Amino acid sequence: MSQDRNQAARELLAFYLEAGVDAVLGETAVDRFADAAESSPPPAIGRPAHEAPRADDPQPGNRPALERSRPAATVVAAPIPLSPDIAVMAAREEAKNAKTLEELRSILDGFTGCTLRATATRLVFADGNPQARVMFVGEAPGRDEDIEGLPFVGRSGKLLDRMMAAIGLTRANAYIANIVPWRPPGNRTPTPQESAICLPFTLRQIELVDPDVLVCLGGPSAQTLLGSRDGILKTRGRWFTFQSGSREIRATATLHPAYLLRQPLQKRLAWRDFLSIKKALG
Ligand code: URA
Repeated sequence: MSQDRNQAARELLAFYLEAGVDAVLGETAVDRFADAAESSPPPAIGRPAHEAPRADDPQPGNRPALERSRPAATVVAAPIPLSPDIAVMAAREEAKNAKTLEELRSILDGFTGCTLRATATRLVFADGNPQARVMFVGEAPGRDEDIEGLPFVGRSGKLLDRMMAAIGLTRANAYIANIVPWRPPGNRTPTPQESAICLPFTLRQIELVDPDVLVCLGGPSAQTLLGSRDGILKTRGRWFTFQSGSREIRATATLHPAYLLRQPLQKRLAWRDFLSIKKALG
């Protein structure tokens, strides 16, 4: 490869990374245009794919030259995205049908109302002990979580484990989930719409776990679950009453471990929050 092509390839890879494309699906590149040319022609628009071609359909041999030379598009049956309001209603309806966490996981796995599932590798439902007295809720899975299917397993997860350990918590006596269970592309913050669509599932998850103490990790989680409009630096360390199903739960917010990795000096604030969580657990 010439130096120019090397440089161009590096820039293209940097662009992919920036856009959140940070994993390859196979060892060798796939030429989709060649695939499409070999496959059968796409069905005519306006006619269901299962109908046989009509006698008057243009046959490959007598199509106009331009159409013959254009590679046929690969027809992928993607679900039509629901409007956000309809998706929220569908999520509410489906979430309330879950009688157990296992049912909730399987309903969520089949839920098509959130478009994030199309770009994520897998559902990241939860980790830890469903009987725990404390439940932590983060924002959304990142790259490592998307690969492993478990929340908080990357660098920020390791820090969360250390923070929990400092007050005697492990994944054997705490439960961990996220507001949004699919990784947003490029680890961006979930949009308010995506959070709203997933919220009925998170609320049902909290109701089914029924912890004594709920801890929001970071601003988006605190805003979504505690309705706080302030930034996390104002909300953290305060105690709220969270209405879960038929009972009230004590809830608080603290700084997100990913933020603490970038701002290590703020760990002293998180340490105060964790001491307060320890006290609340008695
Ligand atoms: N950040 C989150 O908010 N959740 C995870 O699961 C991982 C990183």
